[in-house]
Amino acid sequence: MPLRGTEMTRRELGQLALGAWFSGSVSAEAASASSNAPDIVRWRADFPALDQTVNGHPLAYLDSAATTQRPAAVLAALLDYYRHDNANPGATLHALARRAYEQYEGARRTLAAFINADPDEVVWVRGTTEGINLVASAWARPRLRPGDELLLSVAEHASNLLPWRLVAEQTGATVRYLDVDDEGRVRLDDLDRKLSERTRLVSFSHVSNVAGYINPAAEICARARRAGTHVLIDAAQSAPHVPLDVRSLGCDFLVFSGHKMLGPMGVGVLWGRRELLEDMSPYQAGSNMAHEVGLTSQEFEHAARKFGAGTPNVSGPVGLAAAVQYLGNQNRSAIERHEAELTQYGLERLADVPGLRLLGPSSVTQRLPVFSFVLAEHSPAEVLQHLDTRGIAIRSGDLSALPLLKRFGVSAASRASCYLYTHTADLDRLAAALRELTPSHGKESR
Ligand code: PMP
Repeated sequence: MPLRGTEMTRRELGQLALGAWFSGSVSAEAASASSNAPDIVRWRADFPALDQTVNGHPLAYLDSAATTQRPAAVLAALLDYYRHDNANPGATLHALARRAYEQYEGARRTLAAFINADPDEVVWVRGTTEGINLVASAWARPRLRPGDELLLSVAEHASNLLPWRLVAEQTGATVRYLDVDDEGRVRLDDLDRKLSERTRLVSFSHVSNVAGYINPAAEICARARRAGTHVLIDAAQSAPHVPLDVRSLGCDFLVFSGHKMLGPMGVGVLWGRRELLEDMSPYQAGSNMAHEVGLTSQEFEHAARKFGAGTPNVSGPVGLAAAVQYLGNQNRSAIERHEAELTQYGLERLADVPGLRLLGPSSVTQRLPVFSFVLAEHSPAEVLQHLDTRGIAIRSGDLSALPLLKRFGVSAASRASCYLYTHTADLDRLAAALRELTPSHGKESR
């Protein structure tokens, strides 16, 4: 037991490890990852957190839909920012303030390019949840009247459900729900049936965090716009995997979180059409979002900048921009091929587990490697605990999407989710550990 006072804190240990990592003392896996190595070997080597054992087993991280791991490039960008450029940003102030400002605004340009938007339309938020709340409070609340309708789907995450229910209660508007099919796809026939002149907004997840299906977002937007309504896309699960172009999608608002796409926690993007942002009142007020602030008057900043009250989170956008650059440096079609292979492989492996019921599409196309399931005779909590003892990280519970789980006839489920660094061997280990829980396990060898 180390002596009190000399005992290293977890943070100090982390810094030491990170320092060693940056000074070139990398893992064996990383060391072998030359530029000629297969993509998956190089990708895995880029993520220091994958290189550890959990409960005596190598970590199999299958919880990327909840949050991804961060590549060393993102960790380095954060460290570099704090080491060299940290200051309260200001375009015309001292050198560090100018550098912080340039990094912050450079990140805004990077994220704008990532979704084919104008930087003035990029609002920094804490994540998808805050972005949706901002739209609900600053756009919907002053505009909704009794009798107006908000159209969601039953597959929405709680963060794209509760903000609308609250704003409906506050304004007398009604929330209506689109049905999904038995595999969790939004039903376009139901969309056509429920869109009316009363619909003020359609808000839907591009990809459900449970089913993994990629909804036809551009088609949903086109139908909504034909009906004369506005559309918000919850891109929390799609931004990490699917190229996003707000112009060709035809939406009015789009929201995503940095931590689900290799960036830091506590930062995300709300994109809004410039004219809508200009027309909205501020969500929060304070410094940095107004000029000429006197005792009785002020002039608000324009477009997205109106929503940046207070000292900004600079390192968050800097880290998120580094994540976007990291993704941009990879062969995007190689990632897509890898994810399609993981989808096919995972579906096959899980189909072999006796008593396992998959929730979501069983087909490979138009879906991501997200596998939600229930196992006969074992609660999702038991499944999670068992897998944890084997070093396999998944998620269990209501997955913040209870209405969809109920649509599937369950109230809890387990979910294994993948990203570019996931190896098919992780899915082998998942299936093998699940088989250990099935009643027939071990009988063959007796
Ligand atoms: N929508 C979807 C589809 C999600 O998967 C999540 C996160 N699980 C959210 C919204 C909320 O994202 P955050 O917690 O990062 O705000």
